[in-house]
Amino acid sequence: MSIVCKFGGSSMANATQFKKVRDIVIKNPERRGVVVSAIGKSKSTDNKITDLLYLLFAHIKYKVNYDSIFNQIKERYFEVKNDLNLDLDLEAEFDTIEKNMKVLNQDYLVSRGEYLAAKLMASYIGCKFIDAADVMRFNFDGSVNYDETTKLIKAAAGDNLFVMPGFYGSYETGEIHLFSRGGSDVSGSIVARALEAEVYENWTDVSGILMADPRVVDNPRKITKITYEELRELSYMGASVLHQDAIFPIEDSNIPINIRNTNAPEDAGTIISANDFQTETAITGLAGKKDFTSIMVIKKRFAKKIDVLSQIFNIFKKFNLNIELVPTGVDAFSFVVETASLEKIRYKVMEALNEIEDIVSVETENNIALVAVVGKNMAYKPGFSGRVFAVLGDNGISVKVIAQGSHEFNIIIGVDNKDFEKAIKVIYTNLVE
Ligand code: ASP
Repeated sequence: MSIVCKFGGSSMANATQFKKVRDIVIKNPERRGVVVSAIGKSKSTDNKITDLLYLLFAHIKYKVNYDSIFNQIKERYFEVKNDLNLDLDLEAEFDTIEKNMKVLNQDYLVSRGEYLAAKLMASYIGCKFIDAADVMRFNFDGSVNYDETTKLIKAAAGDNLFVMPGFYGSYETGEIHLFSRGGSDVSGSIVARALEAEVYENWTDVSGILMADPRVVDNPRKITKITYEELRELSYMGASVLHQDAIFPIEDSNIPINIRNTNAPEDAGTIISANDFQTETAITGLAGKKDFTSIMVIKKRFAKKIDVLSQIFNIFKKFNLNIELVPTGVDAFSFVVETASLEKIRYKVMEALNEIEDIVSVETENNIALVAVVGKNMAYKPGFSGRVFAVLGDNGISVKVIAQGSHEFNIIIGVDNKDFEKAIKVIYTNLVE
């Protein structure tokens, strides 16, 4: 049995945070694999090291003097090393980076944030350092080569405690490749899968996932348990807790993810797993996003619905437009897309749609916000969606779009942008509290 834990940038921000991480790791001998992010913000005016590294790369690329940024980065790492009195030749590490950064790609340079953070943490804990470039293997199309990665991680880890940098890996050629931003969550998940961990602990600066965005709802309750599926729905609709792709590597083996707080390690946090469970409230969580556009298409009465729909879908495919929702009627269909994705192609898309022979008219409506009401325990509760809509109606909020999957654990409601916060607030207050 083993536990894999990942510590995000805020847990790695300075020597004080490093101490907390070490205490957490050594408290439970089952914690064997430690995956870390680059150093994050220590105070609000700080920059994240990863952001500085991207900026540094741009300076090199455009041949602008980079000394001040490079020194800022060095200072943050040296501060941790000196405060903790670590025996690590950081000067030599930075010399190598400075030499390589002029010839190697952006991913190499940006990955050094996690590389150095992991080096420091391994030295501080006094355990093995495993370089992600040696064990996290990517295929040339950018996907993870799971078989190879599992083999390499297992062989490198043995039975010992180790620290590994998150966020990057390499191709077979040795060239470094990054995950997308926030990707250390995915690295941790892949390590948990490779080691068949009992649990994947994801340590951050909040004591779990909240039922709604605290900027919208005052003091929302914490979610104690949630299924992978529910979390994916919430993350897709804007809840930002965990990288969306962190669930894929471990959902088949049902390794639970436990979101924990480095600054309050006694808090139980949130458990994400495949298991269904009973919750106090039918709703598990609320999320949402603003700025969608609904494209309404009306077809000729006698035209076959399926033919028209397939022609419309081909146009969306051609323009690479991602459709969020498709509420349809007999003769009228709506396609909800992110407004930003239409920005440069709006008129071309309209023109192409208008050219379809069986279409009578095409109209668009902007400023739509989508609210997702998610909860496995809402399913098969007759009248629940009715209550959601009644609450909105009672509060003068007009519903523009409705969608509910047949699994019944996600109701998506489109309202005007200006009603977005109010919609979440009134649903929360009336149906959760
Ligand atoms: N440091 C990287 C980022 O800021 C990756 C991570 O922290 O997960 O995106």
